[in-house]
Amino acid sequence: PSRQEVSYFGAGPAPLPTSVVEEGAKAFVNFNDTGLGLGEISHRSAAATKILNDAKANLTALLDIPDNYEILFMQAGGSGEFSAVVQNLVPVWIERRRRRAEAEITKANPNAEKAEVDELVFSRLQKEVDEELKLDYLVTGSWSLKASQEAARLVGSKYVNVALDARKANNGKFGVIPAEETWSLTPTKKEGGKGSAFVYFCDNETVDGVEFQSFPKSLEAQGQDEEDERLVVADMSSNFISRKVDVSKYAVIFGGAQKNIGVTGITLAIVRKDLLPPHTATPPPALLHRLNIGGLPGPVVLDYATIAKNNSLYNTLPIFNLWIAGQVMADLVNAFGAQKVSGQEEVASQKAQLIYGALDKFPQVYQVVPDKSIRSRMNICFRVHNGDDAKEKEFIAGAEKRLLQGLKGHRSVGGMRASNYNAVPLENVQKLVKYLEDYATGN
Ligand code: PLP
Repeated sequence: PSRQEVSYFGAGPAPLPTSVVEEGAKAFVNFNDTGLGLGEISHRSAAATKILNDAKANLTALLDIPDNYEILFMQAGGSGEFSAVVQNLVPVWIERRRRRAEAEITKANPNAEKAEVDELVFSRLQKEVDEELKLDYLVTGSWSLKASQEAARLVGSKYVNVALDARKANNGKFGVIPAEETWSLTPTKKEGGKGSAFVYFCDNETVDGVEFQSFPKSLEAQGQDEEDERLVVADMSSNFISRKVDVSKYAVIFGGAQKNIGVTGITLAIVRKDLLPPHTATPPPALLHRLNIGGLPGPVVLDYATIAKNNSLYNTLPIFNLWIAGQVMADLVNAFGAQKVSGQEEVASQKAQLIYGALDKFPQVYQVVPDKSIRSRMNICFRVHNGDDAKEKEFIAGAEKRLLQGLKGHRSVGGMRASNYNAVPLENVQKLVKYLEDYATGN
C-alpha cells in the first residue's frame, strides 16, 4: 500500500508528517543541493549549526521557553534521561548541602584549617546523605516505574521515595492518579521537613494511557528557600509539544523524539540553567565517591553542563535526526503561528475526543482502561469485549484489513492502544472511528 492508504497508530516510533519524510528522503540524498546527504555532513558544519539553532528557536517559540533554560539535544533516549536526571540533580542537592555545611562549620570554627573544615563537612554530609537524601517519584505507570527503578539502581533504593504508587489504589494495576492529598512527598521546610533532591513524574504514561491533566498543585514551590523549592522533573516523551506547558515550573523536562517530534536517536532535555555548573559548582567527584552513593558522577555524555557548554555538540549528534525534529517543529510554528502549541493542543483534544467518543458509545464492546479523569489524549488504551482473546484478535484482523495499523497494546498489558500523536491526521482518526462503529454494530 502507499503511505496515504495506511493509517498508523503505533506508540513510537510513530508516524511523521508525510511532507517531512518526503523532504527528509531528498535531504538524506542531497541536502540543499550541496551534493551531500544529511547523514554525511559534519555535525560541526555551518549547515548543522543552523539546523541546531533553528530547532532551538522553533522549540523556544512553540513552548515559550524562558531565557533561563537550556535546550539540550542528546542521545540515549528517554531511558538515558532516567539516569541523567539522577546523575545531574543529586549532585545539585549535595552541593547545596555542602555549601551550607561549609558556611556553618567555618563560622563555628573560625580558626580551623581548611583540611579540618573539609573533614567536618564530609562527616556532616555523610550523615545528611544517609538520613535526608530523598528522590521523590510519582509512579503512575510503566515508565515512571522504570525511572524509579533506575534511580534505585544508581543511588540505592533507600534514597528513593515512591511518593505515589498508583497501583495500590487500583487493585495492583495502573490506570488512576489518586488525589494529591494521598501522596507522600518528602516534606519541604515549610511542611516541617527539608525537601527532596527532586520530584519526578511522567506526564503521559505511554503504556497505560494515563496523562496528568494539569501541573500537580503540590509540586508548586512552597517558598523562596532552597528547601522549600521542589525541583520538578517531567518525562514528556509521549506528549511533548502537544499542549501548553509552563516551563518555568520545571527543573528538567525531557523526552525522546520518536513520538511527537521525530525519529529515534534524538532526545530533548530542557534544563534550568541555574542547576548547571558553573552556576552551581558540582561537588568534587572524589567527594561523591567517598560519599559512596553509587553511580555518581556518571557518563560525561549524560552530563547536562557538558552538553550545554558545547551547544549539544560535545560528541557526534545525528544531524539527520535533528533535521527531522527541527522540521516538525518549524511546521508547527508555521501552522499555528501566534497560537503556538495551543493550536496543536486543540487538534490533539479534538482527535482524542472523537476516539473516546466512539469507544464510550459502545460500552458493551469497548472498555477504556484508565479512569475517565486521567485519560491520555495521546495513547488511548482500551479492551475489546473485556479482553476476550479471540475477540481482540478478530478486532485487530478487521482493522488490518482496512490498513488501520499499530493498534495492539503494549506487550506488558495487552489490549488495544491507539496512539494519537501530533502527526496522526484527522482523516486517519476518522477512519478509525468508522471502524470502531462498524465493528461494534457488526458491519
Ligand atoms: N518515557 C516514556 C513516557 C516512553 O513512552 C518511553 C518509550 O516508549 C520512554 C520513556 C523510553 O524511551 P526510549 O525507548 O527512548 O529510551
